[in-house]
Amino acid sequence: MSENPPRLAAENTNSFDIARGQLATVAAALDLDPRIHEILRWPKRELTVHFPVLMDDGAVRMFTGYRVHHSITRGPAKGGIRYHPDTDLDEVRALAFWMTVKCAIVGIPFGGAKGGVVCDPTEMSRGELERMTRRYTTEIGILLGPDKDIPAPDVGTDGQVMAWIMDTYSQHEGHTVPAVVTGKPLAIGGSEGRIEATGRGVVTVTREILRADGSQLPGTTVAVQGFGNVGSAAAALFHRSGARVVGVSDVAGAIANPAGIDILALLAYQAERRTVVGFPGATALPNGGDVLTLACDVLVPAALQNQITAANAGEIRARYVIEAANGPTTPRADDILREKGVTVVPDVLANAGGVTVSYFEWVQGLQSFFWTEQEVNSKLEQIMVSAFAQVQTEAKNHACDLRAAAYRVGVRRIAAAITARGIFP
Ligand code: NAD
Repeated sequence: MSENPPRLAAENTNSFDIARGQLATVAAALDLDPRIHEILRWPKRELTVHFPVLMDDGAVRMFTGYRVHHSITRGPAKGGIRYHPDTDLDEVRALAFWMTVKCAIVGIPFGGAKGGVVCDPTEMSRGELERMTRRYTTEIGILLGPDKDIPAPDVGTDGQVMAWIMDTYSQHEGHTVPAVVTGKPLAIGGSEGRIEATGRGVVTVTREILRADGSQLPGTTVAVQGFGNVGSAAAALFHRSGARVVGVSDVAGAIANPAGIDILALLAYQAERRTVVGFPGATALPNGGDVLTLACDVLVPAALQNQITAANAGEIRARYVIEAANGPTTPRADDILREKGVTVVPDVLANAGGVTVSYFEWVQGLQSFFWTEQEVNSKLEQIMVSAFAQVQTEAKNHACDLRAAAYRVGVRRIAAAITARGIFP
């Protein structure tokens, strides 16, 4: 007999392995043509670039960046650009695959892409960020174009970065090309409602899942991990719709208030201090305290991937997990949550509001004809409610969870497009 108890094998948190595992699961469930499964296992093309940037102190620093197109079968490649010290090719491949699936689930005529630069934007000056962005745009420029590949913001990037990308691409083309990026400022052809679109979609699907269970947003308690573009917009909209946001975190720490946090006051505080930590209207969670395991009805991970793992899934106290982030739940954690009876609304559905309004922005840019915020929001509402209903019906018809159902809906549409086009030549 061994003296030591067997140790559980470490969890594989490689995002691309996880994405391929999700694909294998849906391929088996759909009895997918193995040739189509094989095609979808591979990104269509991937570009790695190493490029110099002149830093403020006169030194030249080499940066590494990626742009991956997973699929362009259903339309131009679409996906955000991430600036983060830990980004790597496998992360970008996984994020590109998830974009392909997401666009199909919400029925938007785009393929999937993603990009990233290994850097810490919080430690760079505005000038350094601008020079890095312009050079990266130039390096991946062979892939970009309004009919080819349309970037958008993701972790560590924002409207200003999109404006530099749009300007750089336009300088090379010799004329202004607004539709080459989305998530850009209104002043250069951005869309009303884009900044909060992902958060708005998150709140819409939360409302729909609560409604399906005979409940509603007012009075529901919510905890949000991450207070960036997505998390802060979602928190503000939850607050406005009468839900009680009882916990919020960012990379620096977490705060909680069981009576509800005044999110508008928190936004003002964060705008000044760049963090939620120290906000007077809540208490700091003690050392090691985690917003993910707070007592609440709805948990919204809105930071990075692999946050809910086999190590902490058992401690989740929420009844619903709404995946605002991409890939926040590992497959093992997914199993644990399912066994506990926690309902998970998967990323490829829950955070699709962002790419939906990016699509609206692209359409408006191509037509040079712009919509009101009310038009944008009501079209977003229609698409999110309809996609949610389709996924829910699929889940009921096939007695599966919402992630399996969402993948069934998305991958079936992608497979139909591949079949219709045929395998070239
Ligand atoms: P962001 O850079 O604006 O914000 C990220 C937030 O997460 C910050 O508040 C940061 O402090 C926090 N954070 C990082 N590590 C953390 C940790 N360990 N614990 C707690 N908080 C942590 O990024 P974003 O655009 O809001 O994106 C967040 C997630 O949503 C990502 O997974 C992204 O891929 C996904 N997403 C974004 C969009 C979009 O429109 N921006 C659309 C769909 C999905």
